[in-house]
Amino acid sequence: MATDGGGPTAAELVGRYGSPLYVYRAEKVEAAAADLRAALPAGAVVMYSLKANPHPELVRVLRGAGCRVELTSTGELASALAAGFDGAECLYGGPGKTVEELTAAFTSGIRHYSVESLADLRRVGSVALAHGTRATCLLRVNPPSNAGGAGLRMTGQPSQFGLDLDANPDVTGADLAVPGATVHGFHFYPLTNTPDEQTLREELLGSVRVAADLAARWGIEVTHLDLGGGFSTPYAGEGDRPVYTTLREPLERELDARFPAWRTPGFELVFESGRYLVGDSGTLVCTVTDVKTSGPGTYTVLDTGIHHLGGLSGIGRLRPMTARPATPTDAERVPTSLVGPLCTPADIVNRAASLPAPHPGQLLEIPNVGAYGLTASLVGFLSRPAPTEVLLRGGAVVHASRLRLAREPVTELRTGDAYQEKGPDHMSVQWDAEFEKQLREALPRLGGDGPVSPEASLRAAGLDSLATVELLVKLEEAYGVQIPDEVLTPAAFASPGSLWEAVSDRLRPTVSQG
Ligand SMILES: *Cc1c(COP(=O)(O)O)cnc(C)c1O
Repeated sequence: MATDGGGPTAAELVGRYGSPLYVYRAEKVEAAAADLRAALPAGAVVMYSLKANPHPELVRVLRGAGCRVELTSTGELASALAAGFDGAECLYGGPGKTVEELTAAFTSGIRHYSVESLADLRRVGSVALAHGTRATCLLRVNPPSNAGGAGLRMTGQPSQFGLDLDANPDVTGADLAVPGATVHGFHFYPLTNTPDEQTLREELLGSVRVAADLAARWGIEVTHLDLGGGFSTPYAGEGDRPVYTTLREPLERELDARFPAWRTPGFELVFESGRYLVGDSGTLVCTVTDVKTSGPGTYTVLDTGIHHLGGLSGIGRLRPMTARPATPTDAERVPTSLVGPLCTPADIVNRAASLPAPHPGQLLEIPNVGAYGLTASLVGFLSRPAPTEVLLRGGAVVHASRLRLAREPVTELRTGDAYQEKGPDHMSVQWDAEFEKQLREALPRLGGDGPVSPEASLRAAGLDSLATVELLVKLEEAYGVQIPDEVLTPAAFASPGSLWEAVSDRLRPTVSQG
């Protein structure tokens, strides 16, 4: 590593920050962003997928390099905001978005979503309306397979991602017209880590064609087209990030033919990448703690394992990782298994590695781990501390921090039970007639012909997340007030009593709210 971009040696860094240690290089991230942009059609937006590594300082480097971000959780959203992004610049995607997550996203100013189903589209629209705004949406589609490929195929076969066009042949343009949301384009992400450029190119070209066909079929005026990615880079082993030279021109030609407006300022062409942008920026430095003989082989025990790196290997996706001595040596390589310190036989770094003269105290480094490293690992398993992560720029450490899993107190959700504990007094909780009218309209099953009990379960009466948002909008309209987002806790929606308690103060508009 000393020869790899200059600056302190691995031994010096470990002396200062301890082992194991993640080391990232800002310049590597910037070089990857520049290479990717140069490989893609002119003016394309490159979005960084925070899933690969949500470290806010890496995200900040990508922001400086002109990338935008694609995120899928409130935690990733927090990283993007910490890195200086504005909500308006972010694309929020992923299957299974909840009303709570969407509420946080809208509150942070995110207006741009990738939706994965018609239900997802309607939910995004409802939450948009509840925030007095509209969402612009890309519809993620799962098209029929365009091309083969040995990467990890995410769509083009049955999957939980995207709207499956084979399984939903009857969807019409009218289904996409929902309150609060406008579909202004499509999102594809069929492959990840595609091993060869030709497969990648065919897949991207195929997506352009599918998008054009769908736009015609559904009468959508496409102004945003997210072709996804699938760009590859080595993981946890030797090798160099590829530089793509045959994507740009064929893609530009296909776009000229299918979306003549794509070069105009009103059109946004997007590509996404996680691993290509940050993969080769990271190295994990670790220390040999023991070398043991068992049966015919030796086991080299490291102070790092699947709690820091390669936790995804538990599901059989990742190839064995390779480590090399941090200081080059002439010693002869011997075969050995590389294992971590966790009390499980699954803590394997590489069953069939080789190392020159492995010995306790020896410093090793695992290259190409900037993506799917720490946060893709089993950080909570066996309760060991996370490694420190340092960011180098120009050979100097510009950031050092450590991720911590912390326990925080949680107060019990308020439920119908909690109301009963307050005794019979509470049974007489009285809301006004308007509140009961709105409740009964939203939930016809509630109370039947009899009175509405404060303890009745709203969920049992049919309150799902969509009905929750609709009820809220109705209450806001009926009372002419805005109910703040803090009120939108799951506990508040447990029963009529809890809901009244949560919102009643807001439903009595004061003169100033007039
Ligand atoms: C995971 C993911 C990415 C990033 O994948 P990489 O292989 O890291 O580039 C991009 N877009 C979507 C929708 C994803 O799920």
